[in-house]
Amino acid sequence: MRFNIDEHLDKHNKQLLSEVRNKMSVKFEIFNKPYFENYSINDNVIIYINPKVFNNSSVAHELLHAWFRGLGLHGSNMIYLSAREKPKFSVVFDKKLCDHIGNCMEHYKIYPKFLEMGYASKDFLSSKGMQCDINSIRKLCIQRNGIYSVKHLNNYIGFLISIYADHLPNDYSRHLALIQGIEPKLFDIVSEFWQAWKEVDIENPDPITRTDFDAIHSFIMNVEDWIEDKSIY
Ligand SMILES: [Zn+2]
Repeated sequence: MRFNIDEHLDKHNKQLLSEVRNKMSVKFEIFNKPYFENYSINDNVIIYINPKVFNNSSVAHELLHAWFRGLGLHGSNMIYLSAREKPKFSVVFDKKLCDHIGNCMEHYKIYPKFLEMGYASKDFLSSKGMQCDINSIRKLCIQRNGIYSVKHLNNYIGFLISIYADHLPNDYSRHLALIQGIEPKLFDIVSEFWQAWKEVDIENPDPITRTDFDAIHSFIMNVEDWIEDKSIY
C-alpha cells in the first residue's frame, strides 16, 4: 500500500520530526497491527504505522519516544545492564520488567510534551482504564516462609511503577495502601526511585547532578541492599 507519511503529518509532528532527525535517523514503515509502535537501535528509529488507523496523536507518541532517546539519558537500560552482573537482581529485573520500567519512565516524561503539542490527554495511550487492578494486587504472594517468588516480586515492582506512571487522574489510594502493606521496605525503594525520576530535568541535564544517573544508581543500590539477604526462587 502506498502511503506518503509527509502528506499526513500535521505541523506539530513535522516540527518534532525535524528536531528528532537532527539527532537520529527516523524511518516510517507500514504494518497491519491496530496500534503504532517504534523500534530503535543506536541512532536509528523505525516507526511502524497502520494507514487504516492513522492519526497524528499516535505518531506523536512514537516520535516522542524517539525524541526521548535522543536525549541520551541512561534510562532503564542502566538497570538492566547492572542487574546482569548480579544473579539475584537479574532474575527479578529481567528484560521484560526493565523494558516496562523504561516505557513507564519515558511515558511520564513525554506526556507533558504530548499535551504541549496540542493533543488530547485521552489520545496518549490506547488503554484508558486503571493501569493496575486491585485483584491482581490481592493475588500477589511475594513471599512464603521467607522465600521470595521471582514472578511475584517482578509483578509487584511492575504494578507499582505502572500506577506511578499513569498520566490519568485515577485514584489508586487503595491499591497503594495494599502494595505498601505487602512489603513496606521495597515499596519505599520503588517510591523513592519514582520520586527521584520525576525530579530529573531531562531537557537540561547538568552532567554532575541532573542526569538520570543518580536517580537510577540509587535505585540499583537500594534494591541490591534489600535483595542481598533474601532467598529467592
Ligand atoms: Zn509509549
